[in-house]
Amino acid sequence: MVTTVSIAGSTGSIGTQTLELVAAEPERYEVVALAAGRSVEQLIEQANRVRPKVVAIADDTLARQLAAGVPIGTEVVAGADALALVATLADVTINGVVGFAGLPVTLACLEAGKRLGLANKESLIAAGPVVQRARRTPGAELVPVDSEHAAIHMCLRANDNRSRVSRIQLTASGGPFRGRSASDLESVSIADALAHPTWAMGPKITIDSSTLMNKGLEVIEAHELYGVPAGDLGYSTTLDDIDVVVHPQSIVHSMVTYSDGATIAQLSAPDMRLPIGYALAYPDRIATPFGAIDWSQTTRLDFEPPDRAAFPCLDLAFDAGRIGGTAPAWLSAANEVAVEAFLAGRIRWIDIPRAIFDVLSVHDGKPAADLADVLEGDATARRLALLAIADLESR
Ligand code: MG
Repeated sequence: MVTTVSIAGSTGSIGTQTLELVAAEPERYEVVALAAGRSVEQLIEQANRVRPKVVAIADDTLARQLAAGVPIGTEVVAGADALALVATLADVTINGVVGFAGLPVTLACLEAGKRLGLANKESLIAAGPVVQRARRTPGAELVPVDSEHAAIHMCLRANDNRSRVSRIQLTASGGPFRGRSASDLESVSIADALAHPTWAMGPKITIDSSTLMNKGLEVIEAHELYGVPAGDLGYSTTLDDIDVVVHPQSIVHSMVTYSDGATIAQLSAPDMRLPIGYALAYPDRIATPFGAIDWSQTTRLDFEPPDRAAFPCLDLAFDAGRIGGTAPAWLSAANEVAVEAFLAGRIRWIDIPRAIFDVLSVHDGKPAADLADVLEGDATARRLALLAIADLESR
């Protein structure tokens, strides 16, 4: 039987790798919908190659250009709700949208009772309680595409008794600045921060990796995915049962330690096509060995603790996760604004955690009970982040 696939964010790093994966097993997967924010030319090229039923673009000023370029018979949808619409059309939706903009895709897919392959961690972090409610829709299923969380998903299957899980070890590559001191990091350039040693990814997540904010967000993500009893994924834990371990080779993608001291790890090359394929095929596996390691060659595995002083974003994320409510939404929104300002050359790399700290320090303590709370929290944090950045710029 053919599994139908929708790709939200099809022109990004996750989207293009999903298309490679589907092309490798065409008898098994069929792409029925593609959606992008505004990369219209690339979307037209993909539509002519893949011939989906529906293509969607969020920027509706580009709808006419899109309609003129896609094959006859392909339905074009455009506007703010277009991405969410494609998330309801297939057996599996891969959400590879960048940032908070991915939230409508996450909610629409789960509320339609379909499987969500989630690469957009920001939606889960910002809207945890709202997404948890959507996960309870009959038929809804969330399989993480984030490599660490896919690894944990696999490691948790080593024992039927989830109460025997004692700790999760989330591995981090350490990014391009591993080993550098805080003072050493004052003058790093945009190009330095974009030069990730092991993973090829989009610019936002690459900067997040350089600050360790990506790992901080992933701690909250792991807690949302596995720290609450939800379906077959959950067991009870707190943020403080999750350790961050720096592992520069990015071979061990995360580990779970059980009550008897046994640690189960998942190992593969740093290749996102493996976790994307896992989300498509689970509980089966894809047949293409994208992450296979040649174990006849010497492979070194090193582990070390993170430098929390040089990379304060990690503890900012733990703080926001412990506060709960809309604090993770504030953290994620402030980070998005700060990363954008850094990439635009407005602030220095070391100003990213300063801006986020300034925003979080005035958090209003509000809960994230529903979508309105989350949207308001996101907007407030973005406004405060812009003020913090203007202040940092003027120094
Ligand atoms: Mg990851």
